[in-house]
Amino acid sequence: SRQFTRPLNDLANQFNTLLSAVAGAERVFDILDEEAEEKETAGSVRLTELRGEVNFSNVSFAYDKGGETISNVSFHAAPGETIALVGPTGAGKTTLINLLSRFYDTDSGVITVDGIDIKKVHRADLRKQMAFVLQDSFLFQGTIRENIRYGRLDATDEEVEEAAKMADAHSFIMKMRNQYDTVLKPGGGGISQGQKQLLSIARAILANPVILILDEATSSIDTVTEVKIQDALQRLMKGRTSFVIAHRLNTIQKADRILVLQDGKITEAGSHEELLRRRGFYYELHNRLVTFGSDE
Ligand code: ADP
Repeated sequence: SRQFTRPLNDLANQFNTLLSAVAGAERVFDILDEEAEEKETAGSVRLTELRGEVNFSNVSFAYDKGGETISNVSFHAAPGETIALVGPTGAGKTTLINLLSRFYDTDSGVITVDGIDIKKVHRADLRKQMAFVLQDSFLFQGTIRENIRYGRLDATDEEVEEAAKMADAHSFIMKMRNQYDTVLKPGGGGISQGQKQLLSIARAILANPVILILDEATSSIDTVTEVKIQDALQRLMKGRTSFVIAHRLNTIQKADRILVLQDGKITEAGSHEELLRRRGFYYELHNRLVTFGSDE
């Protein structure tokens, strides 16, 4: 599980760096965009009012000149659908997310959002449409209010609290001595793993993205908090296209579609029932999850 979390931690760190860069650069972008408006070519399609349709068409990718990490992957997500990504560690689940969020570009094949090739879109513009709820390393040293507001920097205090309430984080925040002014240690130290998750959910709710990326926690969280997280996630995911790197049977079963990744390829795709009937890798995985009770 350590090996598993590493790449997404990288993603979280990159994302944090980028987000702060984006926040500062937003005005610069506006000016540049005005100037560039007339000579707009590839790399500057603007994204507005997305519905959140995502399509991968024959996508392949290698991190370096070595072997392919993603091989000829194709799938479609309709607006609002939940797609669960499952498969062994190293199968390429995180890499798919890295490609969708353009931390890397495909070597071949095309990824589109609402039919627009994402290579033609500003990275900042693309990521404005997305929010990430990851396992770790997602909170920075700052107050709880600042950490939630990171989802949308111009949000008012009222909007921050509204998001915290929807994420079911408000009550634990109000029990802390300094409430929303409580300063978190780097990496969100000082609060529990489950509380960190609720804060990242609040942040994502505030961001109000069309596309949602979730990396389900593997660490054990107490049952009461776990139920809160599941409920908050359901509220967050409603009406958004969601990609979940899923570890819990409950989450996987609820997905509209499950993509099984092995060795960079999609080996099985379908609903829970469809995949069980195939008696393939998913069937084996499912039996293991049930037998060892890792869903509970
Ligand atoms: P998963 O999320 O399914 O565990 P990953 O997408 O993280 O899989 O990894 C797929 C493969 O790509 C693994 O072999 C992993 O070691 C490799 N990989 C991941 N990130 C990088 C990177 N930044 N540079 C080089 N190789 C990487």
